[in-house]
Amino acid sequence: MKRVSLIIFFLCFHLYAFSQEKACGTKDQIEPNFSQEAFDQFLINDNSLRSEPDILLPLSIHIIQHEFGFGGLNTTILYNAVDTMNAQYAFMDIEFFICGDIEYINDTELWDFRDNEENQLTPYLVPNTINVFFVRTLESSSGDPLCGYAYFPWAGDLVMMQNGCTADGATFAHELGHYLGLYHTHAFGELVDRSNCSFAGDRCCDTPADPYLGPNNVDFDCNYTGTETDANGDFYMPMVSNLMSYAPSECAYEFTEDQKSRVRYYATTSRDYLMCAAPASLDENQLKEITIYPNPASDHLTVQANELIEFITIYDISQKEVFHKQGKGSLNEHVSLQHLVNGVYTIHVSYESGGFSRSKFIKQ
Ligand SMILES: [Zn+2]
Repeated sequence: MKRVSLIIFFLCFHLYAFSQEKACGTKDQIEPNFSQEAFDQFLINDNSLRSEPDILLPLSIHIIQHEFGFGGLNTTILYNAVDTMNAQYAFMDIEFFICGDIEYINDTELWDFRDNEENQLTPYLVPNTINVFFVRTLESSSGDPLCGYAYFPWAGDLVMMQNGCTADGATFAHELGHYLGLYHTHAFGELVDRSNCSFAGDRCCDTPADPYLGPNNVDFDCNYTGTETDANGDFYMPMVSNLMSYAPSECAYEFTEDQKSRVRYYATTSRDYLMCAAPASLDENQLKEITIYPNPASDHLTVQANELIEFITIYDISQKEVFHKQGKGSLNEHVSLQHLVNGVYTIHVSYESGGFSRSKFIKQ
């Protein structure tokens, strides 16, 4: 039935160019050992003013692509998605950043991912970071298409994203919201009068009761058009702009103060192990000599190594990745620089042996 509605919906997508229903695979699941006392105490202590983000959260990015090395998420889309998400979390004084190199996984089977294939991701997990895997298609084990899913802090440690939903401005922040302890706003039968808001619904009393938003009860101008009533017979007045709702992604762009409290609580308790060890963890003893020429370079660069090259990554002066290439298992690689603007770059070469080299060059 759900599949039928999604098919109908995709037809609508073509007719009206309206976004797809946000299908999130995260199942709301009550935290078994939640302590209201610890949470309240945290809020008292956390109530100080900050001028800058004080919680920095490292993302390990894994882009799954075809075995021949194509079809992975475009990095421009990725960087824009991280920027958008950071703007949405900025009022919480939380900032996400990409820790270490982006990892490319050439695996055609995992490129179209089902949630029962998770154990195949284990070898790629970077400890103590938020591991996010980007895939071409994402399905639940029962075959429902998903935009993404994540685990709650008390349930697991993984975020899955479907490439096509990464640019929608809402799914990435939504899944990281789950990862940091936020429920769906329609979870657990909250009443419109909010009399049960502290122990029903999403546990955030400033998010109104939500009947389960979607394209059938939110119009193209992001107005709620539903006529549902709750157990008391009261009409819902949900928050269509809330990122943890199922409102169409064009409509959802914000979190509330109570959601901020929960996110900061989990980020500093059950998720407090998050830290980026790279690139500091790069063992400088593993640093190998390398020759690159010409330098300055114009349209291409030759990399001459003493070991078999696994991959080459180039970063611009702001440490943003601008080029990534899988090695062919040889000692030499040619890199085209035609797409780079003039400036100073860092080239990072990883070897099959596990060592690496770093060097700066000028493109002119
Ligand atoms: Zn969700």
